[in-house]
Amino acid sequence: MSSPPFCGIASFGRQEIRLTPIEGQSADVAVLGCPFDGSVSYRSGTRFGPRGVREQSLMLWGYHNALQVAPFDVLKVVDAGDVDVIPVDIAKTHSLIEAAASAWVEAGTTVLGLGGEHSVALPLLKAAAKKHGPLAVVHFDAHGDTWTEEYPGYPLSHGTPFIRAIEAGAIDTECYFQLGIRGPTYAASDYLDARALGAKIISADDVGERGVKSIVEEIRRQVGTKPLYISFDVDALDPAFAPGTGTPEIGGLTSREAVGLLRGLAGLNVVGADVVEVSPPYDPAAITSVLGANLAFEMLALMALSPSRKPPAGRA
Ligand code: MN
Ligand code: MN
Repeated sequence: MSSPPFCGIASFGRQEIRLTPIEGQSADVAVLGCPFDGSVSYRSGTRFGPRGVREQSLMLWGYHNALQVAPFDVLKVVDAGDVDVIPVDIAKTHSLIEAAASAWVEAGTTVLGLGGEHSVALPLLKAAAKKHGPLAVVHFDAHGDTWTEEYPGYPLSHGTPFIRAIEAGAIDTECYFQLGIRGPTYAASDYLDARALGAKIISADDVGERGVKSIVEEIRRQVGTKPLYISFDVDALDPAFAPGTGTPEIGGLTSREAVGLLRGLAGLNVVGADVVEVSPPYDPAAITSVLGANLAFEMLALMALSPSRKPPAGRA
């Protein structure tokens, strides 16, 4: 942190670059870029998401004042680089992401994925669930991403990762929250189908009406000590706060609501997370990349305060 944030090579949070686990050198968290955008339903560009987020992460000074924790001090965080995606093959790309994430998970390292579009959450969820079993999931999104098939005959896309993860047994459907849902859908059945799968839908309007505190209490009650995965599609936020994304929807969360909801999860057992759908080509003034970098920092703070990680000095 001695050089100014506009100097040097843009690793995430200016942390050590370590592309694969090294035996005998433990890491608590690996930030893993998944720059794939081959299955988006509208605007592309999230292949540049990890790069945009890394660049804006240079200004994460280190101390999280609201949660009173310095994630980079408490945790050994490494930047694991990017998975070598295959733009024309989503299935192969997913298997490469799952292999890369699994190598870290097996080494005892929590993976923080940077998308890429939301389909990359599927292999990340599977890698975490292989170790921890079915995961409680808090999924921020305007969209449920639980369509059976977005394109007939093609089960994998950024509209289907959560139904595929449920089918794979990676999600504990007793404990699956969708936060920020809104916007037009194909039919009323979109929400009904998601609910039938077990998703508890908390819309952006619900967040406005009920307030952050009541929602956080509900989630905490339900999650308890279960292993928790947080998947954050930045289009959960209003386009005013996240213009650089592929499928924007009006009437979304504010960035303050989003960080309030995340901070409310402090102390839960976070075993994996992702920040996805940041699309720098549609991102004036890097607004959404700044958001993505800071959401990732919020995730790191939650990991630092996770009961499975050592508590910071002076905090029980
Ligand atoms: Mn999504
Ligand atoms: Mn979305």
